[in-house]
Amino acid sequence: MLNNAVILAEAGFRTRRQPVEMVLLEDERPREVQFLVSASPLRGQDQTLALLLLEPAGAEAREPALPCLCMDCHRVRGDQGAWVPLADFSRADPEADLAHGCCLECLVARYPKLRRRS
Ligand SMILES: [Zn+2]
Repeated sequence: MLNNAVILAEAGFRTRRQPVEMVLLEDERPREVQFLVSASPLRGQDQTLALLLLEPAGAEAREPALPCLCMDCHRVRGDQGAWVPLADFSRADPEADLAHGCCLECLVARYPKLRRRS
């Protein structure tokens, strides 16, 4: 599935939240983990790359995900997936932590050889 997501993204297709099982090594012991994989194409000047997002599935997914703050533009990804200015972002617990990440627009701006395929 992971290879398929990369191949589809390189061909210009976007995949959304496909389940995949992986084996992680923790203290040299394997542990099976389920992830949800999303892939988007990113086209550079002479190549197309795949942007992959791995989200935990199964027991880990029951934990509420932290809202993600873009480290460049300081927008926050809301419940519906849209990035909104931090000042406009409201949440039930204003003291709760934010995860740090990078929105797709800032990722493409940070790496100018990449650009989003439309
Ligand atoms: Zn951003």
